[in-house]
This record gives sequence, C-alpha cells and structure tokens, in this order.
Amino acid sequence: MSSPVKRLAILGSTGSIGQQTLDIVRAFPQRFRIVGLAAGKNLDLLTRQIDEFKPDFACYDPANCSSSKVQACLNVPRCQFISREEIASHPDADLVVIATAGKAGLSPTLAAVKAGKRIALANKESLVMAGAIITRELKKTGATIIPVDSEHSAIWQCLNGEKQKAARIILTASGGPFYRFTSSQLAGVTVEQALTHPSWKMGKKVTIDSATMMNKGLEVMEAHWLFGMPYDCISILVHPECIVHSMVEFVDGMVKAQMGCPDMRLPIQYALSYPQRLDNPQLPRIDWGKLRKLTFEPPDMARFPCLKMALAAAKSGDTYPVVLATADELAVELFLAGRIKFTDIASLIEKALERHQPRHAPGLEEIMAADAWTKETVLKLAGGEK
Ligand code: MG
Repeated sequence: MSSPVKRLAILGSTGSIGQQTLDIVRAFPQRFRIVGLAAGKNLDLLTRQIDEFKPDFACYDPANCSSSKVQACLNVPRCQFISREEIASHPDADLVVIATAGKAGLSPTLAAVKAGKRIALANKESLVMAGAIITRELKKTGATIIPVDSEHSAIWQCLNGEKQKAARIILTASGGPFYRFTSSQLAGVTVEQALTHPSWKMGKKVTIDSATMMNKGLEVMEAHWLFGMPYDCISILVHPECIVHSMVEFVDGMVKAQMGCPDMRLPIQYALSYPQRLDNPQLPRIDWGKLRKLTFEPPDMARFPCLKMALAAAKSGDTYPVVLATADELAVELFLAGRIKFTDIASLIEKALERHQPRHAPGLEEIMAADAWTKETVLKLAGGEK
C-alpha cells in the first residue's frame, strides 16, 4: 500500500538538524515533500535548498543578509517569502520541523502549537523558557510534539504502548569531550577542542553545551515538560558509548532502554515517518560483535557546574530557566568569538542567576523581559563591569 506524501515545513533548514532532515527527505522523495523552509544567516545554502526542494514558501532573516544575496534568493521562481511564524502555522504543512537553534525557536514553536500542528521538535530552549505556556496551549489546541532530541525520542519510544506513567526517566549523557579533564585542564580548553564532539555530529551551540554538560540540564527540563515527569524522578547517567539513548523505569522495577548508533538522522527519520519505520540503508546499524561493553556512571557536578546550575534553575522554576538559557546562549557566543574562557561560561551564568529577581508563573511578556534583562546583564559582566 502506498502512503500519501507528507508535506513538511522545516525551520532552521541550514543548521545541522535541518540539513540532516533534508538528507532523510532526499532518501525518500516519494514520501516527503518540502512545502516551507526557513533559515537565519546562511542565505547561500537556503537559496540552494530552495532550488533543490522547490518549497512553496520560505523565510530568511534580512538582518543577517546582504542585499545582493537577498536579491538572488528572491529571484527563485514560485517561492513566496513569509514570516517564520506563518511557516510554522501554515495549513499546507502536515508536519512542522523546528530545528532552529537557541531561543529563536520559541516564537515559531508557539505559533505551531497555537495552530494545532504536528511538530517535530528539535529545539530545547522553547520548552526550557516557556514549558508551562507551551504545555497549556498543547492541551487547548490538540497540537502534538514528536521529540527529535535523541534522548527524548528514546523516552517517547519506550513509553509508546504503555498504559501507565513511568516511575522514573533515566537520561543518558555522553559526558562530552572533556569528561575526564581536571578543573585546571577545563580552564584551558580551546574553541576548536570544544567543537570536537567524540560521538555526535551536531550544531555549534549544542556541541559547546554538550562539552559544559549544560545540554543535559536543558534536556532534563525538556523531559519534564514533554513527559510531565517531576524533577525528582529524572536521573542522569554518563554513558560515553552513546548506544543507550535513554531509559524508562516502571513502577514494578522493569526498565526499557532504546538503543541505536549515535547518529541524529535516526531520531530525525523516525519523527518524520512516525508511526511507520523506514528502511534506510544510509543509516548505521549497531555492530553487536564489536560492542564489548556499555558503561554508566553518575555525573560529576563539581567539575560541571553548568549541569548543577541547570538542575537548580529547573527546580526553582519561575524565570530562572529563562535566565539560564539566555545567559548560556550569550556566553557560548562569547566563547566561540574568543572573548571569554571555557570556564567563564559557567561563571557568567552563575552571576546572572545570582542577580536575578525572579517572576512567578511568568507569561510571555515576563519571559521576554527576563530574556532582555539577562542579555544586558551578561554583556555588562563580560565587558568587565562588576
Ligand atoms: Mg540530546
């Protein structure tokens, strides 16, 4: 039986997840059609993607692009340029893939949720910053979120078909490239070292977050909102082999784990094809004969203060997660630009959190205000102001 073509809109199409999503689409042209593409800075690549996939509508960020590039892009026939939010909520899209990095993902995610869309969500910051609002809107509109993040895809797969809620979620973490580094070694980490992840091919922001282990803290919040799990029932285990992508423990003590090679195209493809599974010969298989051991250990909070701060911010709630996410995004940018040391990422975030006056049960306006306050505070702190 042939299945109908699924129409996709992809936000963040030129980023790492966006490009890997298009790899899957290329492998199954008879199953998926691209109706919308949105990108931020990389207009050259967006123009090539528009040429190849011929979407009906697209979006770029004019603030980031030169006028000659914009002209070249606008010359693509048949393609209409609309806003990111219009793409995320477009009636022609059967599935909206949100692969936008950082807090820029919040607004399109909200637009898609409000429009009742089926969303393949790869952006963590939207749930970290506005998890309560998104969860409330999901209930109202009937929109659904399919997780793309490998850990959350794993949990979601383990929970499929279960009638009862899980008792505990166990998120696995690679530990990043510096898991065995001493504190003094961590202080000397270069941008190049931090961008070299031992197992996963990901965008720059997530790769640095993975090296500081902030990524796992953000993922704990993501899991809390996606699966309605209290923070006390979410644990983290460092698992450097990256084969078990996460586990779910049930009330009777039984545990389900989801395994696969560390390749983002696997969870991306399943988010696109769900409820079907597709045979894609391009995707890697586990070589069980070579897999000698799988190891697990609790994370070391002392050497990875970002993880400790993220867990504290998650439990405090209010606007603390907003400050954490915004301060982290900015601190990572400053590190990538060579303006601060690797270990300054954690100290900037810590200072911002200490100075913050939290707002209880924040609406979108308070979230935006906390975001703006954090940006200003972190830039002042990085500039040397006390
Ligand atoms: Mg992940």
